[in-house]
Amino acid sequence: MTEATSLTRRARQLDDADPLASCRRRFVGHDDPAVPAYLDGNSLGRPLAATVDRVQDLLVTQWGGRLIRGWDEGWLELPLKLGDELGRVALGAAPGQCMVADSTTVLLYKLLRAALTARPDRNRVVIDRDNFPTDRYVLEGIAAECGLELDWLEVPYDGGADAELVRSVVGDKTALVVLSHVAYRSGHLADMPAITTAVQEAGALMLWDLCHSVGVVPVELDAWGVDFAVGCSYKYLNGGPGAPAWAYVGKRHQQLRQPIQGWLGSEDPFGMGQGYRPAAGIRRFASGTPPILGMTAIADMVALIGEVGITAIREKGKALTQFALEATDELLAPHGVVLASPKNPEERGSHITIDHPAFRGITARLWARGVIPDYRNPNGLRLGLSPLSTSFTEVLHGVTAIAEELATRG
Ligand SMILES: *Cc1c(COP(=O)(O)O)cnc(C)c1O
Repeated sequence: MTEATSLTRRARQLDDADPLASCRRRFVGHDDPAVPAYLDGNSLGRPLAATVDRVQDLLVTQWGGRLIRGWDEGWLELPLKLGDELGRVALGAAPGQCMVADSTTVLLYKLLRAALTARPDRNRVVIDRDNFPTDRYVLEGIAAECGLELDWLEVPYDGGADAELVRSVVGDKTALVVLSHVAYRSGHLADMPAITTAVQEAGALMLWDLCHSVGVVPVELDAWGVDFAVGCSYKYLNGGPGAPAWAYVGKRHQQLRQPIQGWLGSEDPFGMGQGYRPAAGIRRFASGTPPILGMTAIADMVALIGEVGITAIREKGKALTQFALEATDELLAPHGVVLASPKNPEERGSHITIDHPAFRGITARLWARGVIPDYRNPNGLRLGLSPLSTSFTEVLHGVTAIAEELATRG
């Protein structure tokens, strides 16, 4: 038997044994013959069919029928209600600490500025060189604005920060440490409880970016004593392009003030009074009118995560990336492709990055045949394997197509 056919058989066996296999049919486009392998659910998750109905209901019944009354009939409460539900199913967060609003970028700014006011006698902030650009850029802006010094962690290309590295840089001038839980390129999964403890032992505060882990890797923000977290909702939360982000602020930090003092974060928005007074609780981290259209599409995925359980999602995520590695070893390594992600599934999220100098050139050809990973500088193809919408057969189809493109190029 050739390697390709034994992999095909193995993919089928894994799909047959997969307790979550039937979830895939709930997503729009899962059977589209023009897209045989969608490997970018970590960048833009597919919509759920249920969401089509929900958005239709919002437009026709709620917006079209209830008009402005909709604000009092649920829209104004939605950011906190959806935040609580997300906290419950995916974040290990008790109610009253999560809120949906803005973009990740804007929430990063608001929370970083709020956190810094809690450490007025400290002027250093730690971040890693490989963090997502928006995190680095926002922090550089705040450093210039507030006169801070940045301490840059150098992390391995196929890895990320660990507690030992963090402990080696934090000190009595460190106000804050900002890291991604799952690194956007390498997929490295940071040890959240150990790093949070190391940071707090130095008297600093910890902000986690969960964009690449929310909905796919379980976390216990309350139990692990996390101070702040942010994440987006268009990746593994399938909220759609530009869906609003979410923030977590631990209860003990909710007296802090954030810098974008809008009316909907104030104590009495419809009092329309003079002088900003922040609302009590997580609501003070809101600023302007909540994006109801964008928020509506998040609810079905949150419900589905609650239904199947984040632990089962994580198990399938590990199995998918493990199978992608197996297929890469057999079909792509002979072409010189190398892994740029951790080898141990416990140390990575739900995507892997593989490297080859030809990848920039073949990405457009893959997309044209409906095989859709994404390309990340300098040489990486990123295979994002969203557990509820991706099958093992689909992964193999994608890796086989990459092998074919590398072969025809040579
Ligand atoms: C996707 C991603 C972002 C995106 O920020 P937006 O404001 O939503 O564009 C930020 N940080 C990380 C780690 C990401 O993966």
